[in-house]
Amino acid sequence: MEGYRNCQSCGMPLDRPEELGTEEDHSKSTIYCIHCYRDGRFTDETMTLERMRDRVRAQLEMAHAGQDVIREAIDRLPQLSRWLGKTPPTGLSAGAVDEKSKR
Ligand SMILES: [Zn+2]
Repeated sequence: MEGYRNCQSCGMPLDRPEELGTEEDHSKSTIYCIHCYRDGRFTDETMTLERMRDRVRAQLEMAHAGQDVIREAIDRLPQLSRWLGKTPPTGLSAGAVDEKSKR
């Protein structure tokens, strides 16, 4: 299946089918995970990048991830499509996200 390797909202790996979000027609999303995206919509529409940072940090700390891993995951969040303000079409591969990622 073509698609992103990480959820474009929280950054978690999408390597297991049961972790994939679902579209309105209950097909699998190739973009978001089940925790972020269900039935064609975000589970939390009001989520912000700041809150997502806290959530990812908390989850990784619970999983006893190292500080390096946590920092890397958090640093990557602004590069994800959801926070770039783009909703990528299903099946589009990562990499076409240049304009806003310039610092
Ligand atoms: Zn997610």
